[in-house]
Amino acid sequence: MKTKLPIALSNKHCHLTREDIDALFGKDYQLTLKKKISQPGQFASEEKVEIVGEKGSMTFRVLGPARSVTQIEILAGDAFKLGVPIVYKDSGDIEGTPGCTIIGPKGKIVKDKGVMVAARHIHMNVEQAKEYGVKDGDYVKVKVEGPRGLTFDNVLIRSNDKCELEMHVDTEEGNACGAKNGDLIEIIKE
Ligand SMILES: [Zn+2]
Repeated sequence: MKTKLPIALSNKHCHLTREDIDALFGKDYQLTLKKKISQPGQFASEEKVEIVGEKGSMTFRVLGPARSVTQIEILAGDAFKLGVPIVYKDSGDIEGTPGCTIIGPKGKIVKDKGVMVAARHIHMNVEQAKEYGVKDGDYVKVKVEGPRGLTFDNVLIRSNDKCELEMHVDTEEGNACGAKNGDLIEIIKE
């Protein structure tokens, strides 16, 4: 049974719907590819927006392509700067998350939800899931080696037909254990 796979760290960023891109950047605006990211079809764009909370605002890079839900993925530390509660959620599920104002070059929108600290997870395709002895929706523990090594609990397996084998944590979680992009981590079954 395989147990090791690479880790990748995500900084704060946001995903926007087609409608919200129109409102922030202008009708039918196309995001500009800056850099492809590991998951197929996903990319960091050149575009940035300002996210405004009760206490402050911060600049967020937009990831493309457009999604069905606008989602602002913050680090826990950003929650204090912005003045929003910390709500941990699996990407795609914005129910119960706080809102914010988003300012783009061509407009401003108010969202009543969408700001989250994204929960750590592992992407793998269905074949790989078999090789690792897990399935979509499972939770595992993950061991990170090294001087600041630690074990992550509650790591969700997200398995479908089109994804790259990779564990995703945010930069706070990654820095906490000294992990760098591409480092190998180990799945430990619960
Ligand atoms: Zn991910």
